[in-house]
Amino acid sequence: MEQNITQIIRRYGNDKARLLDMLIDLQEELGFIGTQAVELLADTLHMSHADINQTLSFYHFFSTEPRGKFTIYLNDSVVAHMFGRETIRKALEKEVGVSFGQVTADGLIGLFSTACIGMSDQEPAAIINNKVFTKLTPYRVKELVRHIRDGRPIEELATESYGDGKNPHPLLQSLVSSNIRRKGMVLSDEYDYGSVLSTKLPKMTPEKLIAEVKHSHIRGRGGAGFPTGFKWEFCRRAKGEKHYVICNADEGEPGTFKDRIILTEKPELVFEGMAIAGYAIGGDEGILYLRYEYRYMREYLEDVLQKMRKRHLLGKNIAGIEGFDFDIRIQFGAGAYVCGEESALIESMEGKRGEPRDKPPFPVERGYLNQPTIVNNVETFATIVRIVENGGEWFTQFGTEDSTGTKILSISGDCLFPGIYEVNWGFTIADMLDMVGAYEVQAVQVGGPSGTLIGPDEFYRTLGYSDLSTGGSIIIFGRQRNLLKDVVLNFMNFFIDESCGSCSTCRIMPLMMRDKLVKLLDGNGVAQDLDELQQWGTVLLASRCGLGQTAGNPVISSLKNFRYLYEELLQKDVEFDQGFDLQAAVQESCDYVGRVPVFSHH
Ligand code: SF4
Repeated sequence: MEQNITQIIRRYGNDKARLLDMLIDLQEELGFIGTQAVELLADTLHMSHADINQTLSFYHFFSTEPRGKFTIYLNDSVVAHMFGRETIRKALEKEVGVSFGQVTADGLIGLFSTACIGMSDQEPAAIINNKVFTKLTPYRVKELVRHIRDGRPIEELATESYGDGKNPHPLLQSLVSSNIRRKGMVLSDEYDYGSVLSTKLPKMTPEKLIAEVKHSHIRGRGGAGFPTGFKWEFCRRAKGEKHYVICNADEGEPGTFKDRIILTEKPELVFEGMAIAGYAIGGDEGILYLRYEYRYMREYLEDVLQKMRKRHLLGKNIAGIEGFDFDIRIQFGAGAYVCGEESALIESMEGKRGEPRDKPPFPVERGYLNQPTIVNNVETFATIVRIVENGGEWFTQFGTEDSTGTKILSISGDCLFPGIYEVNWGFTIADMLDMVGAYEVQAVQVGGPSGTLIGPDEFYRTLGYSDLSTGGSIIIFGRQRNLLKDVVLNFMNFFIDESCGSCSTCRIMPLMMRDKLVKLLDGNGVAQDLDELQQWGTVLLASRCGLGQTAGNPVISSLKNFRYLYEELLQKDVEFDQGFDLQAAVQESCDYVGRVPVFSHH
């Protein structure tokens, strides 16, 4: 065991900034990360045990106890529940013989739940030893468990033809479908990979390139919508020993899966976009930060990178441009939604807990390893290639004035054709529902749990930064769904699980809101509860990052647009006034856990 641990640490040059990679390998190769591993890591990397444990305890896919030779992570997202997750849970418990959270006595199989794994177009789904199994049925569960017990390799099970599953590439080793339903400029098959790098870039200075990107008015596709050209310009001007290009492929917003499909179907486009960004900012290295749920893509993506190096699209003097040296490596996350926030992602890449940093300084000045860094989304990099190919002016003819270009949507839930759709910004929700075959719709969640829940009277609204902004997650709920019990409650539990815990507001308020919602659902609510929910949602805005600031949105948004559902739950004729003191409650909770509340901080 000691030798294995030492080898893994050496694999990453005893570099403590690579702690996350070491922990991932330890977890995969040993099945858990125990005290001996922590001690060896601490001694070799000259870190305290507490520092190692801080990182170790932060990520969902790390464990200090064995989780079984075969670890089954069943998706717990809203969409998974809509498509039979509970039936699959029961089937797994019956076949395996233990409850969720437990491992069989012989240590063979462990059952665990996990947040959205990016398969909302093919639920219910689970990850077993990094292989993805979609569209599960009780019979398939029975068969899988039998095969596992019979000793059949998981790679074989993951690729055997079942249902309509098609393996897009042998190296993916998982039957995950790429449901592309509508193509636009990014998903188009017209583009000849590498042509911008090899023919356009040699004729452009970095300054001209940035000017073209600025002229396109493209804004980041990850959700925040910051103008990409300005970000690149700031980074190019920032002084540093090295400049980094990071591709944020940590799509963890429940209901989102577009980046998974872009990376499966158009990986060359994404990597080419990263190299273009490298040229623009004077970048030395590109890093794709890929969520651990997509670990099954590792060999496939490494193979794509290798082929690009052979074509001199990565490496030294790319496209014959003297001094244009740029290569890309893949960094995996380990299961933490908050790492989608760019500074938390950078912390994670440096081997730490994925806690968002205070800003300024912004990553463009001091990002990865304190060097100037740009972080852009998968879709942004893919889109950039088409902009540089055709010019910024060409790009502005798509979309609207304040939201140029196209947007790739991940659409799931109650519709006939779940999948990804590339549409021009400005598309209405009503057209979108018609496009995907969604009828008798009660509500649409735009932008995932942190976004907005709208009802039919708002289906005239349009997708765009000035109206319904979205990173791409769209979940449709039919009339048969219980919005508060099945949707809002699930979303609140998601935020509670995913808070990094550093602000008292984000650590406490979602819990209080969830409990209040349960009280209402239990039939014990009174009118004052609704006012308090509203106030608490406002308090959350004082949180440090977007996760906390939007963690109350499921309640606030449903309270605004579906208030009648809450009112139907209220006890009638009950007077209620307990004079609740919010500040005192937060202070009390913080005293209890030994933390300082952040009210004064903001
Ligand atoms: Fe962490 Fe939440 Fe604060 Fe963000 S808002 S820093 S996730 S505690």
